[in-house]
Amino acid sequence: MEVMKAAVFTDVGKIEIKEIEKPVPQKGEVLVRIKACALCTWEQRIFKGVSRVPFPYIGGHEISGVIEEIGENVDEQRWKVGQKVAIRILRSCGECHYCRTGANNLCEMIGKEGEELRLPYPGLGGLSEYLVVPPTKLFKLANDIPFEIGALSEPLACVIHSVERANIELGDDVVIIGAGVMGLLHVMIAKIRGARVIVSEINAERQKLAKQLGADEIINPLEKDPVEEVKKLTEGRGADVVINTTPVSKVAETTVQIAGKRGRVIFYSSQHPDYPIQISPDWIHRSEIVITGSVSPDITDFYRATKLLSSKIVNPQLLISEIVPFEKIEEAFRKATDPQNYRIVVQL
Ligand SMILES: [Zn+2]
Ligand SMILES: [Zn+2]
Repeated sequence: MEVMKAAVFTDVGKIEIKEIEKPVPQKGEVLVRIKACALCTWEQRIFKGVSRVPFPYIGGHEISGVIEEIGENVDEQRWKVGQKVAIRILRSCGECHYCRTGANNLCEMIGKEGEELRLPYPGLGGLSEYLVVPPTKLFKLANDIPFEIGALSEPLACVIHSVERANIELGDDVVIIGAGVMGLLHVMIAKIRGARVIVSEINAERQKLAKQLGADEIINPLEKDPVEEVKKLTEGRGADVVINTTPVSKVAETTVQIAGKRGRVIFYSSQHPDYPIQISPDWIHRSEIVITGSVSPDITDFYRATKLLSSKIVNPQLLISEIVPFEKIEEAFRKATDPQNYRIVVQL
């Protein structure tokens, strides 16, 4: 039995590098050497104990790597050793109600990735040196883009899903609340969709980066009421689209109030803690606004994300604060949870 290294959460605030069995590709599988894993807010919440998982647990799902070995019965014209790839780790069984109705991001098997990946512990497995996956989970990346950029395929795909849910049209007034990594990716994609982008953000550094990435207007909600400011910018109508990328329930109420008639409101971020909010049902009736969520990317979103990165139509380089070697995984998590930083990418 060959072994490989994997970073395993063993308790709140504790992550250790352990040796586990290196998987061997079976029929219809490809062995990928993982080269980069970006540390998502979700893993940061596991590290901080905000989100609960059974320990030990292998995190990591924003990954890129290179094909190292190809099992039998894999199309060798399409998949070659040495090809850079991103992996969509989420399960999509193809058999359940959601997979069969075009919502494979809501597949009933999501959460059971560890068993499919044949890992010794539950988790998404991205913080390990190797993964075996069927080619349906593989997405080619151009060989000339760096692994750390390729690792952002997953978060970019999440944002593409959100923008699709919002159905952003040319010239729409789109308000993005929060300019962290997710908010800033929304800025980039909303601009590509031809929107006027209005960002609500309190932090001056983040405001600056939002501008640099194409935001047309910036509102500081500590200085000015964002509902009134958006009205001023839209001849009193309110926004066509509002996307909340913050986990704060207080902001959730404002999110709905910013939308104008026929507005689409997207709750992009999970909410911590998840307090109920007040919404006027009569306003929903009169305005025809649509309030919805966005969770995880479907297969098409993921494919589009890898195409946008490979063709360099989207370059999220400025959203990577630091690349940290695998051996310093705990330090990487400490850095990732520092609100000054954007994405921290672990190099495996
Ligand atoms: Zn993520
Ligand atoms: Zn399914």
